[in-house]
Amino acid sequence: MSRVAIVTGGTRGIGRAICEALQAQGRTVVANYAGNEEKARAFSDATGIKSYKWNVGDHEACIEGCARVEAEVGPIDIVVNNAGITRDGTLLKMSYEDWTDVLRINLGGCFNMAKATFAGMKNSGWGRFVNIGSINGQAGQYGQVNYAAAKSGIHGFTKALAQEGARYGITVNAIAPGYIDTDMVAAVPENVLEKIVARIPVGRLGHADEIARGVAFLTSDEGGFVTGSTMSINGGQHMY
Ligand code: NDP
Repeated sequence: MSRVAIVTGGTRGIGRAICEALQAQGRTVVANYAGNEEKARAFSDATGIKSYKWNVGDHEACIEGCARVEAEVGPIDIVVNNAGITRDGTLLKMSYEDWTDVLRINLGGCFNMAKATFAGMKNSGWGRFVNIGSINGQAGQYGQVNYAAAKSGIHGFTKALAQEGARYGITVNAIAPGYIDTDMVAAVPENVLEKIVARIPVGRLGHADEIARGVAFLTSDEGGFVTGSTMSINGGQHMY
């Protein structure tokens, strides 16, 4: 029986590549998205993967959305917490709303999705979570106190939940991507991006499918002994 995987923010960018990699691995995949209907429709038409709209920062919406997926597709075995936003600005310019929105969606989304699915995985004795963190959660980044805090929180959340899941056959890992060529990075001013690429030893931005391959491994049966880890996929930009 094919295991069911849900990828939040799965209709474009890194999430889309993850959906396609898990589908190629034989998973039954569904994608969640926030509201870009055009991208969601194009994604579902091209891949045959169903997409479901809800805000991962909304606790009730996650509970209801996952219940709907389970009723229509089957029990969720794999959760990839990929949905994320940026609201950059230096501390003095950052509004309280920019702070809470980024925390609520990027970090709160992981909690909400885990609350909706962990018990089911515990009952079945098998489960996989992969939480998409960031190099900027590991190293910090000027103008991103909100995003760096949320992503750093994801790395801590991952290690704590891994300890709770281990006895039930549930692994919980994080991936910390470096700079990947998606819409999110397209929003970075060109002169800033040039400086960033100059600091990447491999000499280029990463591709979304390079993150997806990491997710495919961490969610596989063969990945069962890996839990509580953070896989850095960043072209050598941050090593520790
Ligand atoms: P994109 O901005 O290209 O895509 C974001 C996806 O998340 C979209 O599908 C979007 O839906 C969805 N999304 C946003 N907010 C919500 C929400 N509240 N509820 C549900 N879905 C939501 O992002 P990337 O592909 O670049 O990034 C994916 C993840 O990787 C993020 O967590 C990001 O922080 C992380 N990351 C990215 C890096 C990069 O260089 N690109 C580097 C390090 C980490 P919709 O299309 O409807 O708007």
